[in-house]
Parts: sequence; structure tokens; C-alpha cells
Amino acid sequence: MDIVVENLTKKYGAQRAVDNISFRVKTGEILGFLGPNGAGKTTTMKAIATYLTPNEGDIHVGNFSIYENPDEIKKNIGYLPENNPLYNDMPVIDYLKFVAALQGIEKGRIREKILHMINTCGLEGEKHKKIGELSKGYRQRVGLAQALIHDPQVLILDEPTSGLDPNQIVEIRELIKKIGREKTVILSSHILAEVEATCDRILIINKGKIVADGTSRDLRKQSEGHEILRVKIEEGDKNEIFKALQGLNTIGMVDFMKKDETAFEIQTKPGLSSRREVFNLCVGKGWILTEMTPIETKLEDIFRELTMN
Ligand code: ATP
Repeated sequence: MDIVVENLTKKYGAQRAVDNISFRVKTGEILGFLGPNGAGKTTTMKAIATYLTPNEGDIHVGNFSIYENPDEIKKNIGYLPENNPLYNDMPVIDYLKFVAALQGIEKGRIREKILHMINTCGLEGEKHKKIGELSKGYRQRVGLAQALIHDPQVLILDEPTSGLDPNQIVEIRELIKKIGREKTVILSSHILAEVEATCDRILIINKGKIVADGTSRDLRKQSEGHEILRVKIEEGDKNEIFKALQGLNTIGMVDFMKKDETAFEIQTKPGLSSRREVFNLCVGKGWILTEMTPIETKLEDIFRELTMN
């Protein structure tokens, strides 16, 4: 089921928490919703899951509209809210039974569904424990199991790995990826590595507006305007090399690399490449070029650039 968000606006008093955003998520896609605190991620996800009504705009999940068919949307969506609220006094298995009944699963199929979820979410060893006795990672698995029990076609996961240790994070990511092959998934996070590792596409939101949309590769390219090279040149005076590099037409900025002063970081003017010029310069001067490595723009830098103001 595709999700189509059109001109969505949600205001709290005078504040536009979400400000006229539009995007589409295709079936089988895992979309990472990335943004700093207060960017509008949760608000957007709640609107898709029909837990709040927008001031303007429309959302369709498959052919269903949030205004006309909210119940149909609820049936087709699995929602893991931020902070994963659960009933601490209930044993895992009873809680899943309760959720299955709430989701309207036929009585005769509840057992089979629960066993399937326990298996999929790796809860076998914990199924008789009270939820309050579980570690955070296992609580998160229970949250995922409750979101998945009715086999929804769409999954909305609000910060699914928040507060987990590195091993748990990897496990939950793998689980989401596995599940996500057949479903439409939106997950939110502040963590770049997370969305990069888990998602097919990244949407960056800041102050209620979308500031970037694409694969991590697209986003890098978008900001690439400048090529950055790490270059190591030997057999020449470092100050002379520095000056000569600065004099090249294509180069915007040269810097010494820390610790190792025969290495330079060269940033090219937007849209140009300086590889050929650097090579020819070394040949002309009789210097030995021992390294020329393009430095990838880090996703962190792109994120900061886009969400700083
Ligand atoms: P975080 O990463 O911190 O969870 P977020 O991107 O999910 O942030 P939202 O929770 O969507 O951000 O909040 C967007 C803005 O709307 C924030 O400034 C927040 O204070 C405000 N906001 C959210 N819910 C309400 C509410 N019920 N009443 C008033 N303001 C709200």
C-alpha cells in the first residue's frame, strides 16, 4: 500500500509543527524520517496513523483517506509510538492476546498469530515474563509484535531503536529490514547511521518542512558541489607545494592534513574536478604523488547543513 501525503499542515496554536509537506512512500519501501528534536516527525506519523487530525492537507494510505476511512487505515497500519507505551503488569503472551482481540483477529486464529509474532520478534524465551520485567530491547520487540500482529501492510515506527544498546539496535534493525521487504515502512530517527543502515530512502525534515528527499547516495551527491581530495605529495618543499596547489584554477581551498604535513586536503570549486591539474602539476615539478583519494561528504555534515537554521 502506498502512502501519499499532500500539503499536510498541523498547527499547535501559532506554531506550524508540520508546514505544508508532501511526499509519497511506495509499497515495499523503507523510508527513514530524519530530523532534529521538534522537527515534526512524530506529528506527521501520528497524522498518517490517524491519531491526530491535520489542519490542512490530505493523506491516503492505499485508497483510503484519513478523513473518510480512518478505521480502514487503522486496520492496515501497525504503529509503534514513541516511548512504546505498554502494560507493565501483563505477561507478554497475555498482552499480545489482548492486542490481537483489539485488532479484531478472529478468536480461532489468535493463538497462531501470537506464536508467529513470538517467533518473528524473537520473544520465545520471554513470552511468560511480565512486560515490566523485560529489558528495553525485549520491550521494543513486544512493541513491534503488537504493531505487526494483525499483519498490516504499512508500518509506522517512531524511533524504534531509541535507548537500546548497540547489539539490540543491530537486532531490531535486521528485524525491521526483514519485515520491511513486504510492507511499506516509515521509521523516524535522529540517528543518521540508523536510517542509512535500514532505509531505502531518507526524508529530512526541519522545523516542519522537508529539506531533503532521496537515497543517502543522492543526498551526498546533492551536497557534493565540491569535490574533496586527500592528496599526498613528496619530494618537494611543503610550502611551495601548498602555494602551487592554491594557484590551480579549479581549487577553492587547500589545507594541510593534521599530523602529516606532506598530505593536503583540497576542496575544488563547485562543479569542478582538480584531479588532472594536481597530477599535471606534480609531473611538471618532479614531485611524487603518492596518494589521491576522494573524501566522501559525510551524511552528518549534510544533515547539519540542512538543519542548522
Ligand atoms: P522528537 O525527535 O524530539 O521526538 P519530532 O520531530 O517528533 O521531535 P514533534 O513531536 O512532531 O517533533 O513536534 C513538533 C513540534 O510540535 C514541537 O515543537 C512540539 O513541541 C510541538 N508539539 C507536538 N505536539 C504538541 C502538542 N500536543 N501541543 C503543543 N505542541 C506540540
